[in-house]
Formats: sequence, C-alpha cells, structure tokens
Amino acid sequence: MSTDPTTKSLHAFRSLYGREPEILVRAPGRVNLIGDHVDYAGGMVMPIAIELQTVIALARQDGRSTTGSRFHSVDLERTETIDLGTPVPALPRDSKGSFVNYVIGPIEQIRSKGHVIPAMDMTIASSIPMGGGLSSSAALEVGVILAMRTLLGAPSNPLEIALEAQQAEHDHAGTPCGIMDMYVSAAARSGHASLIDCRTNELRHVKMPDEEDAIVLITDTTVRHTLNDGAYSRRREACEKALESMGGSYLSEATVDAIEVSALSDEVARRARHVVEETERVRRFARALERKDLEEAGALMFESHESLASLYEVSCPELDLLVNVAEGWRGKGVHGSRMTGGGFGGCTVTLCRPDAVDGITHAFEKAFEEAFARKPVFHVSRAAAGASILEPEGSASPKV
Ligand code: ADP
Ligand code: MG
Repeated sequence: MSTDPTTKSLHAFRSLYGREPEILVRAPGRVNLIGDHVDYAGGMVMPIAIELQTVIALARQDGRSTTGSRFHSVDLERTETIDLGTPVPALPRDSKGSFVNYVIGPIEQIRSKGHVIPAMDMTIASSIPMGGGLSSSAALEVGVILAMRTLLGAPSNPLEIALEAQQAEHDHAGTPCGIMDMYVSAAARSGHASLIDCRTNELRHVKMPDEEDAIVLITDTTVRHTLNDGAYSRRREACEKALESMGGSYLSEATVDAIEVSALSDEVARRARHVVEETERVRRFARALERKDLEEAGALMFESHESLASLYEVSCPELDLLVNVAEGWRGKGVHGSRMTGGGFGGCTVTLCRPDAVDGITHAFEKAFEEAFARKPVFHVSRAAAGASILEPEGSASPKV
C-alpha cells in the first residue's frame, strides 16, 4: 500500500464512504530550529514546516438525515461516529477514541464563530509520527480548520486558522500550548523558516541556507512524551510565577540582571533565565542565517540545547546523547544540533552539510544503539509550505 498520505486519505474516503470527497487539504508538521519553551512567555521562535504532512479528505453527508458524522484515522485504523448537532465537549483523554478531540476541537471553534456545522464524513492520513514532537496534533487541527472553512465557504487567513487551532488544543486536547506549532503549519513559506514574535504574532519569512551548504536532519529518539502529563503545565506555571513577581507584560522582555537580583526561587529563576536568553538567541540565529553565517547559527543551536537541558530541564538522556555526538562532528559537517519541541523525548534537529549526512546518521545510530539497544529514526526535510488545498490528484490549488 502507498505510504503517501494523500493517496491513503483519498483511498480510505472512497472505500469507506463510497464517494469522492468535496475537499482535500494538506497541513505540514514542523520542526523548530531554535526557540523552545518561549512561545507561551512571549518569546521569539523559528520553526520550519516539514515535508511530513497530514492529509484530510472531507465531504458533507448530503441527502442523509444522519446524526452521526464519521471521522476515520487511517493511521489509527479507527472510525468514530459523533453527533455534531449540538456542541461536543472533550472526550476523556485516555479513551480509545480520544483522537477525535483533535478534530472536534477545531470544529467547535468554527461553530463558535456562528457557523452551522453540517453532518460530514472525514478521513485523516498522515506521515507525521504521533507524539514525536513534530506536531502531528497541530497539523491535524490546522488541516481540519482549513478543510472545514473551505467546505463552508468561510475562508480565513493563516493567523486566524492558527489561533483557532491553538484554542482547540487548549479546550479539547487539554494542552495549554503556545501558537508556534499551529502558526508555522498554517503560514510557512517553502524554502523559508518562520521567525515568529509570540508577543505580537508577527511572522517574518527568513530564507533557509542553500541546500548544498545546509540541510535539516531530524533524529527521532522514539521516546514518546506526553505533554499533558503535567511537566509542561508546571514549566508554564513557573514562567507565570516569574512574570507575576518581576512585573512587565512578557517574561521574554525581562533581563538576566533583573532575574539575578529578584526574589525568585532558584528553580523559577533558572526557568526565567532560559526564556530571556533563548529569545535573544533566536534573534541572533535569524541574523546569522540572513548573513549566511552557519558557524554562528550552529553555535547558537548548541547553546540552546544546553539551556533546555540544564536551566529548563526538559531534555532526556537520549536527546543529550545525540547532541553530544553531533558536537563531535562540529567542523566536520555539523553546523549545530539541539533537542527540539516540548522535550522529554521526541527529536533533535541538526543543521548539517548534505555530504556529511550519511556519516552523521551512522555515528548517531552507532552511539544510540550502544547506549539504548535500539535505533533512532531519521528524517531529512526541506522547509515546506504551510497548509494548502489539494486537488484530488494531489496538486496544490490556490482556491483560498
Ligand atoms: P505531537 O503533536 O508531537 O505529534 P501530541 O501528543 O501533541 O504529539 O499529539 C498526538 C495526538 O494527536 C495523537 O495521540 C492523536 O490523538 C492525534 N493525532 C495526530 N495525528 C493523527 C492522525 N493522523 N490520526 C489520528 N489522530 C492523530
Ligand atoms: Mg502536539
């Protein structure tokens, strides 16, 4: 069977529902090059959309007086039937069908804007690993919103889509995330990273290095985080506490000097210092990319990892080992490397020369196998475009 999510989603739609979808959309996952655990503190982040993506096929249940909308995940091999006649609350998170929270949440956002929600059929297929830190959840939410808004003839801009998807994740998935994942999935430009100021939601497209100089290697530890297990919320609370105690509008705008003389506990002060310094690193990273200074950009990635590991304490032995091996390849093909995303597992992101990828992946694999008796999973990705509408053949169309 094809591994292409467009083909999988379309085939599933035809075979389950016996007709063609009205709407087919794609939404990419993302990897953050630098700037983690700062979005919710008003910092700067710089992700790219990746080539791994989620494809959603959707049609109204025309002519049927059904109360059951059907949602099928090809990846989970599950179909859930939900009555959308009245607003649907979040399902218990650990229930088997709870993936539909990531579909109902976006639909409820659209309902809350005054739209009437029709009964519908949907299939979902993705090449983004779930829970791997590459934002399969944001891709799904953004994809559902774009698909629904297109179906209802209520087009929107990428920022509005991202805000709706973020609110959906808060309300229906129970994760108080920032806007980064959804925004880059909705708004990215091919060949560019997205520099996002999370205070103003201003997004600037920054050109990625030429492919012969640097490519993005994602290494998945396959350690699966559960962001909503409390650690994420506790980090967020520490930032809120720091802001409350120090004053100001955003923690990212504090200074290291002010943190040092503050009455913050040692732990909260370390969290705050990460936010302030990481935000400054993102600015410097963007400037380094713009002047094609890959050595500086890479050095900032290593610094970022160190800060996430020791000040913010969201790394894990698998991530640390991979970044350690990458350090050994500095000047031999690796520009920079760091953990990326929420942490406690997931992936590292490595900026490296394409001619060194084979050697680097081999070194990662060898060290990882020796330490953990299993292999990491690799993805090499270009910076992809944000969510778009597809024709059933799979070609992008500028309908919205
Ligand atoms: P991440 O966003 O890092 O991949 P999350 O834990 O935030 O991890 O989101 C993963 C959850 O999103 C899955 O457990 C599932 O409920 C939902 N999800 C994402 N992609 C799909 C998919 N293709 N089919 C069904 N559910 C999905
Ligand atoms: Mg997620």
